[in-house]
Parts: sequence; structure tokens; C-alpha cells
Amino acid sequence: RTLVSAAGEPEERALEAALRPKNLDDFVGQKRVRRQLSLVLEASRMRSSSADHVLLSGPPGLGKTTLAMIIAAEMNAPLRISSGPAIQHAGDLAAILSSLTEGEVLFLDEIHRMSRPAEEMLYMAMEDFRVDIVVGKGAGATAIPLELPPFTLVGATTRAGLLPGPLRDRFGFTGHLEFYSVEELELVLRRSAGLLDLKLSSAGFSEIASRSRGTPRIANRLLRRVRDWALVHGLDRIEASSASAALEMYEIDARGLDRLDRSVLQALIGKFNGGPVGLSTLAIAVGEEMETVETVAEPFLVREGLLGRTPRGRIAMPAAWQHLGVPMPEGMSV
Ligand code: ATP
Repeated sequence: RTLVSAAGEPEERALEAALRPKNLDDFVGQKRVRRQLSLVLEASRMRSSSADHVLLSGPPGLGKTTLAMIIAAEMNAPLRISSGPAIQHAGDLAAILSSLTEGEVLFLDEIHRMSRPAEEMLYMAMEDFRVDIVVGKGAGATAIPLELPPFTLVGATTRAGLLPGPLRDRFGFTGHLEFYSVEELELVLRRSAGLLDLKLSSAGFSEIASRSRGTPRIANRLLRRVRDWALVHGLDRIEASSASAALEMYEIDARGLDRLDRSVLQALIGKFNGGPVGLSTLAIAVGEEMETVETVAEPFLVREGLLGRTPRGRIAMPAAWQHLGVPMPEGMSV
């Protein structure tokens, strides 16, 4: 991924953590999910029980991890973080589950990427707070039941549809996170700028917000790039012109498309004459994993009306030709 979307360095990660809202009131936008979640949490506090399992779905960077942290904080419970890809064997999951304390919140990111046997162990753990630990192999194998303390599972996935039905059904509540509006992103940015002690004009905020692909993580990251720019240029107040100059340098265009988004559209138009083309072929053409194209670039491009998903494959919408400045072939219709 581009410089702007990689959260590799420790300093970047520390900054990202510092900007995380700590409670539901500080969490901007997602009004519906926030209201539903607040009711679930309030009710379980009143019953003095652990909260029902929660599934959060939506594209990366919209606040799933943040919400899991908020759930733990609001329930005054410890939080354990792991992820689907880290749990390849049922034993990995058993080790985590058996060390949970009462009421603990277990956050499993990318829960759709867990192995099958682990997934089956999770069904029972979620429903009955019990797991069967299998000892030995073949005919001599025995299952030793192990009671678990009540805990709350918070699962995150980029698309709820990627989860098998039986797993999805075991969540008491599913919150679907939507892309944020430009106004909501401005609020996220104002809050972050306050924490980073940065001064921006209103137009400066909206310049960054409108290039943030509806995603708070990207908004915060772009703000940090703009902050670097301001530091190097000795500015103590950031106007829209500096914000846009800084972001152009990082190849974020006026519509917020980054290098991956543009290369998807460029491949669709340049190599496949606008499509339709299958996802796997498109992913190879841009040199990315299929899942990255499908879960990172596509939801945004579809929402922007730049890309269409049809039964025969992906197509470039007229707005995509226009955005890249390539005339659509005569007589072509979408
Ligand atoms: P991934 O699935 O890729 O881990 P995510 O959906 O879990 O992404 P988070 O890590 O929770 O995303 O959020 C990314 C960043 O965006 C955090 O640093 C957080 O500060 C900020 N953020 C997310 N949602 C909000 C929000 N509603 N209000 C303010 N800041 C937010």
C-alpha cells in the first residue's frame, strides 16, 4: 500500500492509538450502531452480566477496533485482542479462551479468516461457555470438557457475508459500519487536531475530510502528513491550499483516490477497455491480493459511482472514464 495507508512505523501506531476515542460519546458518527450498542451495554450493566456477543462489519479503518475497546471500557472489563489469521489451530483458540477472566472482552479481528476447526470450537464457546479439548489422536482421542467464564466476543469482519451462517447467528448483535460523511470526518479531524495541537482553517479541515475516502483512519493519517508539511514549511496555521499541496504530494487526488484506487480504474479502462472483467484477473493486473482489491478499494469505488459490480465482472462507470480523463469509446454504454 502507499505511504499514506501503511501504519507500519511505531510512531505512526502510537499516534493512531492516541487519537482513538475512549468512550461512545467521543465516537463520531455511526449514529445507528452507537445507539444500538449503547442499549445492549446499558442493559447488560443493569443485569450485571457480560454483554451479548457483538459482530462488527464494514471496510477497514471505520472504527471496529476502536468500538471493541470502547465496549470493554464501558463494561469496565479487560480486553484481549487477537485475529482470525493468528488462530490457525483449534489449540490456539483453546489457549486464549481458557485464559479469559469473567466478563473479559475478546476481540477477534478478521474473524472470517479463522480456520474451520477453530471456528467450530468457537460456536460452542459462544453458546455454552464451554469447549472440548481433544487430547490424543485417532481411536484413543478423548474430549475433555472445559468450562469457560462468561465473556463477550467482539468479532470484526470486512463483510458479514464472509462468515458462515452458524457463526453469524451466534452473535446477539451485528453492527454494520458505514462510510463517514465529509461533515463527520471534519469532526474526527477537529478532535484529532485538538489532541495534536494543530491549527487549521475550516477550509483546511474540509479539504482533508473530502480526500479521506469516508474513513477516519485515513483522515487521521492524512492529517499527520499535512502536519509534517506544516512543520517543514514553518506554518503555524494550515489553510486549504497547504493541505491540498501536501496531499497531492502523497498522490491523494481531489476525490480522495489513492494509488491503488487509481490503478484499479486504470487497469479496468486501459487493459480491459472498461470491463467487464473478473475480480481475480483485475487483482493480478494491479498486482494486489484479490481480498485487498475487493475489501479495500472496491467498496469506496462502488460508493463513488466509479466502479460497478455485475454478474459478468467489474466494469468502469462513466464517472471513472471522466475522472481519469479518458474519453469513453463511441457507442459504448454501461
Ligand atoms: P481495521 O479493521 O482495519 O482494524 P478498524 O475498523 O478496526 O480497522 P480502527 O482501528 O478502530 O478501525 O480505527 C482507525 C482509526 O480511526 C483510529 O485511530 C481511530 O482513532 C479513528 N476512528 C475510527 N472511528 C472513529 C470515530 N467514529 N470517531 C473518531 N475517530 C475514529
